[in-house]
Amino acid sequence: FDKLKEKLSKTKQHIVEKIEAVVPVGKKIDETTIEEIEEILISSDVGIQATEQITSILRKKVKEGALKDYSDLKSLLKNELYKILENGTSLNLSSKPAVIMVVGVNGVGKTTTIGKLGYKFISEGKSVVFAAADTFRAAAIQQLEIWANRVGADIVKHKSGADPAAVVFDAVQHARAKKKDIVIIDTAGRLHTKQPLMEELKKINRVIKKSIPEAPHEILLILDATTGQNAIKQAQLFNEAIGLTGVVVTKLDGTAKGGVIFAIKKEIGIPVKLIGIGEGIDDLKEFNPKEFVEALFD
Ligand code: GDP
Repeated sequence: FDKLKEKLSKTKQHIVEKIEAVVPVGKKIDETTIEEIEEILISSDVGIQATEQITSILRKKVKEGALKDYSDLKSLLKNELYKILENGTSLNLSSKPAVIMVVGVNGVGKTTTIGKLGYKFISEGKSVVFAAADTFRAAAIQQLEIWANRVGADIVKHKSGADPAAVVFDAVQHARAKKKDIVIIDTAGRLHTKQPLMEELKKINRVIKKSIPEAPHEILLILDATTGQNAIKQAQLFNEAIGLTGVVVTKLDGTAKGGVIFAIKKEIGIPVKLIGIGEGIDDLKEFNPKEFVEALFD
């Protein structure tokens, strides 16, 4: 918890400490205060919808006389922010193999996240297969192989330029034959090329379903917190094209834009399931909304 708190300190400065500053101890909360809070929330990537939800309840409570000072405000904010994030945060791993398709644009931390996720599962005693389905970049296959060796995962790969769906088909077959627990699929993240990425991802999806009709069990989008509103746009794009089951928000350490987590859930309706808070192998955490909100306000 202390580590999380420290990693989120910039986001905390940007949201909570600014709110504290406009509501000093003993100050009465009125419409002006609410407008100031509104501005802080909007400017901290929380998003318009989440901000509106919060300010409308603040107005209601002020009217009722139920919001006297900062301590009332703090518990109300914590409660509302928690309500936005709760539900749906756990990974669906009940099938064997559980198939996790990982998508996202280049540079967001996709390969690193797959490596850390593999490490986490293997530390929990599960067996893991990586599928190197970003065949567009030779370096992506090499990177994933380095991670596979480091964490002790199997890797299924073809030559660079091969059909990504064929790699995925082989990886799923391998996992079934060897009775592995989890398949994690790395996919391409190029957006601006002639070969359409979304079609490629849909084809991978169809090929998985040929072997296991109810798979993939998770389609996780990796988003870089430091990109703020861009992350929201990416979530919309991928969700419309392929349908997401969850989001992983990386690079929350050292950014003031952690508020974007609230916008992702509120505006796209997709739960955040994991968060990246550093470059270390164990810096990927299951997302715990209660802890996250506590860390911001503590
Ligand atoms: P990809 O192109 O999406 O596969 O991105 P990479 O996995 O290669 O990661 C890009 C960079 O982001 C690397 O330098 C990673 O170490 C870094 N990175 C990934 N996740 C995190 C995180 O949670 N925090 C920080 N600070 N850096 C991260």
